[in-house]
Amino acid sequence: MYCQVIIDIVHENVASPFTYRIPEEMELIPGQRVAVPFGRREKEGIILGLSETCDLDESRVKDILRPLEDYAAVPAELMELAGQMALEAHCPLAETLRLMLPAQMRGGRIHVKTEKTAVLNVQAEKALAMAEAEKRSPKRAAILRMLADGKVHMVSELASAVKEPREALRKLAADEIILLSEEESLRVPGSSFGSLQNPGFTLTAGQREALDEILPCLTGKGGRFLLHGVTGSGKTEVFMAAVQETLTLGKSAIILVPEIALTPQMVSWFRGRFGPVAAVIHSRLSPGERFDEWRRIRRGEARVVIGARSAVFSPARDLGLIVVDEEHESTYMSDHHPRYDAREVALNRCARENATLILASATPSILSFARARRGDYMLLEMPRRVKDRPLPEVEIVDMREELENGNRTVLSASLRRTLKECVTRGEQAMLLMNRRGYNSFVSCRSCGYVVKCPNCDISMTYHVASNDGMLRCHYCGQAMRPPETCPECGGKYIRYFGAGTQKVEEEVAKLLPGIPTARMDYDTTGGKDGHGKILEEFRSGRARVLIGTQMIAKGLDFPQVTLVGVIAADMTLNLPDYRSRERTFQLLTQVAGRAGRGEKPGKVIIQTYKPEDPVIGYAASQDYRSFFEDEFRRRRRGLYPPFTLLVRFLTESRSEEAAVRTADQLEREIRDMMENHPAWQKKVLLVSNDTPGVKVLRGKNRRHVLMKLLVGPETDEMIAAMTELAREPAGDTEVWFEVNPTTMI
Ligand code: ADP
Ligand code: ZN
Repeated sequence: MYCQVIIDIVHENVASPFTYRIPEEMELIPGQRVAVPFGRREKEGIILGLSETCDLDESRVKDILRPLEDYAAVPAELMELAGQMALEAHCPLAETLRLMLPAQMRGGRIHVKTEKTAVLNVQAEKALAMAEAEKRSPKRAAILRMLADGKVHMVSELASAVKEPREALRKLAADEIILLSEEESLRVPGSSFGSLQNPGFTLTAGQREALDEILPCLTGKGGRFLLHGVTGSGKTEVFMAAVQETLTLGKSAIILVPEIALTPQMVSWFRGRFGPVAAVIHSRLSPGERFDEWRRIRRGEARVVIGARSAVFSPARDLGLIVVDEEHESTYMSDHHPRYDAREVALNRCARENATLILASATPSILSFARARRGDYMLLEMPRRVKDRPLPEVEIVDMREELENGNRTVLSASLRRTLKECVTRGEQAMLLMNRRGYNSFVSCRSCGYVVKCPNCDISMTYHVASNDGMLRCHYCGQAMRPPETCPECGGKYIRYFGAGTQKVEEEVAKLLPGIPTARMDYDTTGGKDGHGKILEEFRSGRARVLIGTQMIAKGLDFPQVTLVGVIAADMTLNLPDYRSRERTFQLLTQVAGRAGRGEKPGKVIIQTYKPEDPVIGYAASQDYRSFFEDEFRRRRRGLYPPFTLLVRFLTESRSEEAAVRTADQLEREIRDMMENHPAWQKKVLLVSNDTPGVKVLRGKNRRHVLMKLLVGPETDEMIAAMTELAREPAGDTEVWFEVNPTTMI
């Protein structure tokens, strides 16, 4: 027998499978990992297929050295998925196969943990009789009794009842009364999330209706749903019930969340409800724990998996359901190679494995909603909050008027008043400021010089002294002391402008002296469980106001919050990205949805310099439909996704000239293709060849060639050709080719 092996190396010369001979006594199956001789070294690989014959010269075919596990690490369905993803991303199979395994598994870095076990080699009655007859060694007798009892078989457990049992065990084994062996033991991670019991709700009418559509699909060939429910409509309960049903049917479920650290409530609820059949995959697991959770899933011992985007590749047995919660979040797109969109992978897996897909959100992505309208997903709508709680009342504050009235602070008069009242009533408030730090830029009043990062074309942000009093670059982390005089003109009028979360924190402290507040942003959530500590501080009521970046907008459920303030709604609206309107609408609607989730009604104050912008209005009235129609029309007019694919070549080089030259070269090649192939001419729209949002990043000069592709039968081939173009060596310039890139900076 022979087998084709994908070697775990990413290199263009090693992209196709290699043939090896399977030694006589060895039995192997596709998906199994093996050690093979490769050149002069030993490498790991995955078996792609088996064959009885081999076209190669026998003498050149080498033997498989040994299997790395006695099971297929990548089950058949995931092997096929990896194959398809490699084709679509035009990348080597070794690269997509890596997604299917815990990183720690590769390279033999993680060892299977074992424990010594003892089992009887004689009937239990006989063992008890021997224990009775045993006069000389009480240890021997005790061990026999415990083993006969059948509850204990780990040596470590025996040792807690019998002191130093080793010698007695050895003798019993030598007399063939017991068998000693080693057994694998799994490191089940302790939960730092705690577990909440199932609150046992009576379903609302909206929840019932949604489930009536979903549940029948779980038994059959699966269905595709977009669950669109306003914030607080109880979407979680809908998919939890679907998970429950999936388990009852003997199948497994995967729940994807945007970020585990930001969903502690859901995770603990989920733990309490499903107990040990649940696996939680998060970044705080040790490599050993992560590997063992993966094995519990692979063996079918864990049948519900909750995790961030990479959990979509979990080797769940008999997959019945995948839920993507907050499906509009951009964290579902991976930004390193090989790039993938977890929602697309989920859709693909569900189709392959006859499983049901539920995408859930209060603000679905334009792409998903467009698909639902086309009939690709069944749209389930929950337009009312649980218990008919009202959506929060929204007030829009024009910050230009505040300026005219002489208010130069970040808090409008209205927000100050409402915040004070809210706290006085003993309720809680959340304030969104989508930028961290204190001041966003530092500039010279005399000559206009702005302090920029030495590595990036970005202004430096000032962080308060209690942080470290430094200027920081939010792109590369570079820090420097603020200048006392202008490095350009030597002037003394260095001034600080713009605001971030730290400034908001300071102003709230001035407004509400003695009232404890908490701040949640990148700077405060660094340590172990940084998010958890802050969320707990707020949940317990110790902190009364939570100030934070978009982190605080994500699905949190704090019933005591009755006021949400958005400090600067325009911040995301002004980003140079075709999705900035969508992102702004989502952010505003989501954060507004944090208010009034308990018994008391909520209020939202949105501060903006552009109150007339329709996006602000749609978010204020939580009017998803109108926003969607408006945005959909705008995308069609401007030929943006989903009407086209936006693709770009990004060049990066230490030398500006080289980055420009490579981009120009790429543009010429595209134009050549357009001249020579009618399909290209019809389908490619060259948009620009210029600098992206950030001209210099981490010391590298950047250019991009931006195009729109009209989708058609030739699209795939064109993308393949462009991928090839990007792979051509370009000296010291790096070239990235991206389809619908996550960011346009
Ligand atoms: P969404 O995700 O749609 O914003 P959640 O799932 O977080 O909403 O539910 C909102 C709140 O309503 C939560 O506190 C949840 O515990 C509660 N809830 C959900 N379903 C019910 C129900 N059927 N009866 C009572 N309370 C419910
Ligand atoms: Zn920088």
